[in-house]
Amino acid sequence: MLKIENLNVNYGSISALRNETITVGNGELVTLIGGNGAGKTTTLMAISNLIPKVSGKIIFKNKDISQLSPDKIVKMGLAHVPEGRRIFPGLTVYENLVAGTMGNSVIKNKDIPQLIEEQYELFPRLKEREKQMGGSLSGGEQQMLAIARALMLKPDILMLDEPSLGLAPIIVEEIFELLVKLKIKGKTILLIEQNASMALSIADRGYVLALGEVILEGTGRALLANPEVIKAYLGG
Ligand code: ATP
Repeated sequence: MLKIENLNVNYGSISALRNETITVGNGELVTLIGGNGAGKTTTLMAISNLIPKVSGKIIFKNKDISQLSPDKIVKMGLAHVPEGRRIFPGLTVYENLVAGTMGNSVIKNKDIPQLIEEQYELFPRLKEREKQMGGSLSGGEQQMLAIARALMLKPDILMLDEPSLGLAPIIVEEIFELLVKLKIKGKTILLIEQNASMALSIADRGYVLALGEVILEGTGRALLANPEVIKAYLGG
């Protein structure tokens, strides 16, 4: 589904990603973990072509999308939920969901009500708050809205940047349960997380990033049991 091949990204003279190679298979939930500044956010930004690459290729559905514009990448079916849940605070929940489809010729207007119903089924809390302004929702609800808005595009792959950031543990659990639900429905997910134990516990496979390099990879279960991972990322 998605392959990142020998990706290199610099910020000025700082090397943020070095020869990063990652694959995400159809229907897989893959997580990328690592500490502050490891290069996780940079990876997603480079995949969506929001920052320039020094070298490397991004292959999505067997096509090289390395030079494609960010909007074309979204239209191809790659949705990116950035860190910090950038929803529209002055629009209602319903309007935020509709706005998710704007400018995207793939989604037909007549399909929007059905798509919104699908999101409400997944996130009953959003239905209850349908007429509420996005900005008045709790942090967890805003995160759910950001994910639901991305799902409005029926993406083939969903990339999530730290959905747990700044949320209470009980809300984080709810978000992770939802990701498991999406995975069971067959959605392909690339999840960036600092909360390594939770991310690895739901992931099929994971990669550990340190100083812009992949230093370890394996199944979620193998990484959870890996002494190096336990010591560095699981507080063991
Ligand atoms: P965090 O969880 O803190 O966001 P991260 O793993 O997502 O960490 P990145 O944000 O991708 O890490 O950052 C990777 C490296 O690139 C860090 O050293 C960071 O300081 C640097 N960096 C990130 N954005 C910029 C920028 N706009 N200009 C210069 N350096 C940057």
